[in-house]
Amino acid sequence: MKTLIVEDNELNLVLARDLLLHHGHEVMTATTVAEARVTLSRWRPDVVLLDVQLPEEPGTALLDEIRLDPTLRSVPIIAVTAFAMAGDRERFLERGFDHYMSKPIDTRRFASEIEAQVSLRSEARGILSEFP
Ligand code: MN
Repeated sequence: MKTLIVEDNELNLVLARDLLLHHGHEVMTATTVAEARVTLSRWRPDVVLLDVQLPEEPGTALLDEIRLDPTLRSVPIIAVTAFAMAGDRERFLERGFDHYMSKPIDTRRFASEIEAQVSLRSEARGILSEFP
């Protein structure tokens, strides 16, 4: 699975990257929306893990761009954020994220939860494409 991690906190980034590499993911990382934009211009991931609080531009700026790009729009985007207030999950899903995971990440479930989300979405797309 090709996974793009966009996260400005180095410790969080390294932890997420190492967990996913350990699970056999091919991982690219970015610490800003601008960096992620460059990566996405030449590499199409199967999933994007997107920190919402980033310097310069918010994660939602990248979310909106991906959704407007015909070659990327179906890539699942998972918000990985430190927000943990009641209603946050609903707010992020309403905003257009496919899934929401709160920080600190649960190291035992992190990779499998991402993989489950991606296969759920690709199955859903397969079903939809049978009924155009
Ligand atoms: Mn951040």
